[in-house]
Amino acid sequence: MKKKENLIELRHIKKCFDGNTVVTEDFNLEVKKGEFVTFLGPSGCGKTTILRMIGGFELPTSGEILLNGEDISILPPNKRPINTVFQKYALFPHLNVYDNIAFGLKLKKLPKKEQDEKVRHALEIVDLEGFEKRSIQTLSGGQQQRIAIARAIVNEPELLLLDEPLSALDYKMRKEMQLELKNMHKKLGITFIFVTHDQEEALTMSDKIVVMADGEIQQVGTPEEIYNEPSNLFVADFIGESNIFKGRVVEKKKVSFCGTVFDCVDDYEIGTVIDAVVRPEDIQISAAEGQIQGEILSSDFKGTFYIVFVRSGKNEIEIHSLKNFQPGTTVKLYIAPDSIHLIPYDSSINHYEGVLGAYSEEKGLYAEFSDFSWDIKPEQIFSDIKIENGHLIKNGQPIQTEGLRIEASFQPSAAQLSDDAQAGVVQGRIISFLYVGDHYRYTVRSKSEEDYVVDDEYLWNQEDYVSILIPKEKVSYRILNGKNKIVK
Ligand code: ATP
Repeated sequence: MKKKENLIELRHIKKCFDGNTVVTEDFNLEVKKGEFVTFLGPSGCGKTTILRMIGGFELPTSGEILLNGEDISILPPNKRPINTVFQKYALFPHLNVYDNIAFGLKLKKLPKKEQDEKVRHALEIVDLEGFEKRSIQTLSGGQQQRIAIARAIVNEPELLLLDEPLSALDYKMRKEMQLELKNMHKKLGITFIFVTHDQEEALTMSDKIVVMADGEIQQVGTPEEIYNEPSNLFVADFIGESNIFKGRVVEKKKVSFCGTVFDCVDDYEIGTVIDAVVRPEDIQISAAEGQIQGEILSSDFKGTFYIVFVRSGKNEIEIHSLKNFQPGTTVKLYIAPDSIHLIPYDSSINHYEGVLGAYSEEKGLYAEFSDFSWDIKPEQIFSDIKIENGHLIKNGQPIQTEGLRIEASFQPSAAQLSDDAQAGVVQGRIISFLYVGDHYRYTVRSKSEEDYVVDDEYLWNQEDYVSILIPKEKVSYRILNGKNKIVK
């Protein structure tokens, strides 16, 4: 089969507003011809800004936007074969349906007969044949949104951008319009880029989902890939419900979490620290058989299933069950090997670059990082180090430490949060958190925009201002290549 060509390529896009709000540092994405691509992510993650740059309503600070291989980064919107449907329909209330849809065609001075034909065809696609003469005020929200779509597709764009176009509709209408949009996409055969923060909407409609957080792509994949094989904890937590357990690979395709060893299908090196993601619908509750035992905490009917919470040891586990269970009952839980998805522990978190100062006998060895500075024992950084006559000596040679770049790292479980600003070495705001089986995992952003990941069993709130206690003895260091000036 012939490989589908790229319609849009975003290359190294950086976007800053007012010189200091950085929406994205380095955004890269390819969209193939005819795809239905959805940008999904929490509010403020930059979905709309990326869409507006593709549409030409915003310019990238740097980077390239290619359409069919040609750079269109600085072309104005009306010079791009792209149309946009906005969240607010932005129809002209004083014009009827026909004049709203034909607006752009009139500007292009198309012959009347051709305009009539195109408007009729666009109305057919959005399933509103014969609505030409109706006034906009007499239409329901759903019908107005369809007219907005008709007005965008009448220009026969190569790419249709849809910025949360269904968010103003009620639940039922929204569901209907989701299916209709999918049908329209099939009928038209053009490329759609759709923005939403609603994961269910993204899973229902898209060929490809781009999950975003904080201006960065977290994962690109089909709805099935995103749901079944989340590539990190953010995606696992954001898409659908999930239980996340901290664990370790103990044998080939055997993983330990919740105090038990489970068979699994993911194959990682023995000893790898992992997070195990298990969907609530993939855990079976029974009276007799299962790998772990627990006690029913609650069971609430949700229309088609019960949401059951079970406590097993320190873990609280969510299960979606067709059967109801009495709180207090002791039960067994069974998880099949292919229902356990392992995400290797992200070894890139909690790594901070700093610079060493000169060693002196009275002050010792100091290191400065962007958020803190402290003394380090020389043996924490250098092996076989000796102190002779006030100098650091390795292999018989004195070492000059001043300006050496080092990296400090620690495990999230090594640190702790406190509401006493003076207690910890770093202060910041909680920007997100996850429930990980028997504790919470917090991401704290400091003033200097460094992120710190900390496991803590207490429940803090997003936006809480906290300080982070990092025990010095739990921090490991390594020397980075190259010298740098000391950060003042
Ligand atoms: P939502 O789902 O709430 O619409 P989003 O993911 O679409 O969110 P954006 O609207 O792209 O997010 O905003 C990303 C960031 O850029 C936000 O912090 C926002 O405040 C900021 N931002 C957006 N437009 C501007 C602007 N014109 N000037 C300054 N900052 C802006």
